[in-house]
Amino acid sequence: MAEKVCWLCGRNGTADPLDEHHIFGGAYRRKSEKYGLKVYLCHHDCHIFGRRAAHNNRETMEQLKRYGQKLAMERNNWTVEDFCREFGKNYLPDNELVELQAEPEENSFRLIDDVKLAY
Ligand SMILES: [Zn+2]
Ligand SMILES: [Zn+2]
Repeated sequence: MAEKVCWLCGRNGTADPLDEHHIFGGAYRRKSEKYGLKVYLCHHDCHIFGRRAAHNNRETMEQLKRYGQKLAMERNNWTVEDFCREFGKNYLPDNELVELQAEPEENSFRLIDDVKLAY
């Protein structure tokens, strides 16, 4: 199994234990579980309390959702429409969608790197 590190800061949890965070919560939490759309975050600094923590910082939360959508689309070979059907809305801005379509190879490499970081 790949090393567990924090999605946000890359630390390994020895100082601040890693939590599992479901990228899409609430009504979509079970689907996050089903599709493996979860990341590790340092409990205190990056998950709940810190200045950039996912539950404390709107920008981090949105960044995570964009990441989660790309991951879901890449893994399941989904279009934006497929993603919206499963998770209710599109989180990716137009320029990132254009990028996804324009550079499929570069993008899949980046996603593979991200997967290593997240698990
Ligand atoms: Zn969380
Ligand atoms: Zn962290």
